[in-house]
Amino acid sequence: MPVILISDYLSTSSFLPPMHLKKLITSLVLVCCVVTQMMMFFSYARIKSKIAELSGVSPIVRQMCINSCVAFTGPFDNLEECPICQEARYLNDTSTPRRVFHTIPIGPQLQALWRTKESAQNIRHRSRRTAAIIAEIEENGGHITLFNDIYHGSEYLAAVERGDITRDDMILIMSIDGAQLYQMKASDCWISIWIIGDHAPDMRYKKKCVLPSTFMPGPISRNIPIHLCSRPSSFGRSTEGRSYDLGCC
Ligand SMILES: [Zn+2]
Repeated sequence: MPVILISDYLSTSSFLPPMHLKKLITSLVLVCCVVTQMMMFFSYARIKSKIAELSGVSPIVRQMCINSCVAFTGPFDNLEECPICQEARYLNDTSTPRRVFHTIPIGPQLQALWRTKESAQNIRHRSRRTAAIIAEIEENGGHITLFNDIYHGSEYLAAVERGDITRDDMILIMSIDGAQLYQMKASDCWISIWIIGDHAPDMRYKKKCVLPSTFMPGPISRNIPIHLCSRPSSFGRSTEGRSYDLGCC
């Protein structure tokens, strides 16, 4: 049992704000005491559920077309069949969806990045570099001598100049690709991730800094599901996000 608890703690601790972390540790200690004294064993699923509740990082489940054409959200929320392939949304005469996908809310994950001084300083890399780049531009009559990061992009700098992106905003880069999880059985899915553009390039793309976004089964066709063009509510329950298209990279 302690092994399960420790692994759960380690796998989620990077997402947790300090207050939630304190509650989580307290909770885990209590669980350990109960297990030790009463020899009761909580299931792995129950422990995971408790940690998700405390951390705020739990998947948002949405219904989608069996062929992965659309998600039944927004303008498609009330449809009973897919507007693209006309496949039924639910299993025969039930309210059970034929297919769902999961989104991990990014809001609580971003919030947790500000919980320690070290982590907050890492996130401040973008604002420090941006200030230096703008100073260089002013000094060199509008010229940049070396282009070596996304902060040198003209679209980004224009957004900063307009005030659309401030030093307190966070820059997210979304990356998505299809994957086959198991070699010997049908397991095609799309996985999307968030890369935090505020981190320095030497840590931005490291696994520990990349945050999960969406997991969805399919699609049968090789096209990216069109509902990815209108992002689901992945910014979380309490955090609102603004979106600026800075181009593809
Ligand atoms: Zn469809």
